[in-house]
Formats: sequence, structure tokens, C-alpha cells
Amino acid sequence: MYAPNESRYEAMRYNRCGRSGLKLPAVSLGLWHNFGGLDPRENARAMIRRAFDLGITHFDLANNYGPPPGSAEETFGAILRSDLAPYRDELIISTKAGWGMWPGPYGDFGSRKYLIASLDQSLRRMGLQYVDIFYHHRPDPQTPLEETMGALADIVRSGKALYAGISSYQPDPTRESSEILRALGRPCAIHQPSYSMFNRWVEDGLLDVLGREGIGCIVFSPLAQVLLTDRYLQGIPADSRAAHSIFLRPEAITAEVMAKVTKLNEIARARGQKLSQMAISWVLRRKEVTSALIGASKVSQIEDAVAALQAPPLSAEELKKIEEIL
Ligand code: NDP
Repeated sequence: MYAPNESRYEAMRYNRCGRSGLKLPAVSLGLWHNFGGLDPRENARAMIRRAFDLGITHFDLANNYGPPPGSAEETFGAILRSDLAPYRDELIISTKAGWGMWPGPYGDFGSRKYLIASLDQSLRRMGLQYVDIFYHHRPDPQTPLEETMGALADIVRSGKALYAGISSYQPDPTRESSEILRALGRPCAIHQPSYSMFNRWVEDGLLDVLGREGIGCIVFSPLAQVLLTDRYLQGIPADSRAAHSIFLRPEAITAEVMAKVTKLNEIARARGQKLSQMAISWVLRRKEVTSALIGASKVSQIEDAVAALQAPPLSAEELKKIEEIL
């Protein structure tokens, strides 16, 4: 029987999510890769247990995570039942809908029909009565924002989710969504955009909107999906993402990218960190960022990420050197 580490809340930092009452760990764990039905269940279980032992209270899912789609939620539900059920009130579990999930016109994008049906399916797969955060996973160019946000507000009102969030929305639609949700009495608690040293679009307006609107920000792929680690310095290992995932193709790992990675790795080493740890320190340097949402294939990667929080903040001189490389 699993007994969590009693000192699990000592090493972790918890940041307030925008102006909401919710606090999130500075590092959260996402189950996009390595928790699907084709991945070894015991490794998934070990990673989730270790994460919780290190104070990671937040686990991020989506309806389509797998493969096959839906299977990461099933894996998480099984681990919840075997290990974490007594700790449900210590956990923040999120899921999303917005990408294609089932055939026909009702299993994709942002209609009320899709969002409400999808959340019911997610709850069944995880064996939960409610999730803590439910997101619209990506903007829908055709459905009116009033409909999508109305569905999120109704979901929160129904108790099937405690907080509403949006993911990958640009600054203007984020502001409009926030206004609609606030008017409906269920403010937007959180935005989930991509952000890393290699992907800085959020600096171009989104973080300002989030700061002004009081919306929290959990940034996905802070390690640029493995690139901002030491993993590919000697080529692509067979057990790594670029060797097996359609989302990171070996062609993305160009000589130019690797030249930057090599130089960034030197800066990280000079400050006594791994590159993956410096990448986490770097996204967390922005006050608007509530949490760095990492992925992992091994327990040791989660340990590295949490240890990054012990490092001193990046100095002005280090930030300048990083900027020159980028
Ligand atoms: P990261 O950028 O953190 O990449 C994670 C990968 O980096 C791991 O799988 C591992 O690669 C490698 N890695 C992690 N730690 C280390 C380490 N210490 N040393 C060496 N390599 C390391 O994030 P992800 O791209 O995985 O995304 C994280 C989460 O964000 C997802 O699980 C999901 O919850 C969310 N997300 C949300 C999206 C959205 O649209 N809202 C889109 C994408 C992600 P390897 O597996 O090769 O070992």
C-alpha cells in the first residue's frame, strides 16, 4: 500500500493562480506522453507517486492524451484508485476538450455539445465526480466565444469542474473570454499556453493580458518537448520522444538548434544546473507564470525538475547571455 512522503509539502513552492483562491505547485506534471495505454503502467505509476511525494499536487490531462486517445485518463484513473484516492482533496486534476476526439461533427473544437459530452466521458474514464480545472483546449474559429464560454461557466456551475480555463488562446480572444466569463460569474482562472526559451509568443501581449485580467498561467512544454535538455547532445536515444512521437520529428533537431542547446547547456552548467533545470528557472522568472507544466518519461526527470526550484534566480548577466544565444 502506498504511503506518501510526509514531508512532501516542504520542498515545493505554491503560487497563487492569478487572482483566484487556487494555488498551484511551481512545477506541475502533464500526462500527454508516456502515460498512454501503450506505455508501461508501472513506470507511469512510479512517476505519479514520486511527483506527489515531491509536492506536485497538480496533474494535467486532456481527453485525447494517449495513445490511444483517452488512455492517459484511464491510466490516471487506475493510479488514483490504487494509490491516491485517499488524497483526492490534496490534488488538482485538470482535463480539456478542443481537439478531435470522436468521429462526426460533435467531437471536435468548441461547441457546447462537444465540451459537455467530452467532460462526462473524461470523468467516467478517470472515475471522478469532478475535475478541478476544465479547459477549452484550443480556439475554435467558428463557434461564438459566448457559446464556448457559456458552456465552461455552466460546467463550473454544475460542479463537474471547479475552475474554468482556456489554452492556446491569443491575447484578444483571451481578454474577450475573460470578460464573458466574469460577466457570467465564473471568472477564467487559468490560461495554458506554450512557453520556453525556444517559443516566446506569450511575451508578445498574452502575459500582459493575463496580468491585467488576473488570470493564472501554466506554461506547457517549458523544455521545448525535450530540446532544452541534455538528452540530444549526443544524438537521439531510442527511448526518447523524437524517436517515436509524431509531435517531435527528428528533422526539428537541426544543427542550428543543437548549437544553441550546446551553448545554453554551458550556461546551465556554470550555474550548477542541468539545462532542463535552467529552462524551468527561465520560464518561472516571469511573475505572471504560476507553474511550469513539464512532461517526463522517467522518475529522475521529475526529481530534476523539482530540484530546479532550489536554484537561485537567473541573474541579469545570465539572462543577457541567454538572450544573446537565443
Ligand atoms: P516538456 O517540454 O517538459 O518536455 C518533456 C520531455 O522532456 C520529457 O518527456 C523528456 O523527454 C524530457 N525531459 C524532461 N525532463 C528531463 C530531464 N530532467 N532531463 C532530460 N530530459 C528531460 O513538456 P511536454 O511537451 O511533455 O508537455 C508537458 C505537458 O504540457 C503535457 O504533458 C501536457 O499536459 C501539456 N501540454 C499541453 C498542450 C496544450 O495544447 N494545452 C500541448 C502540449 C503539452 P523523453 O520523453 O524523450 O525522455
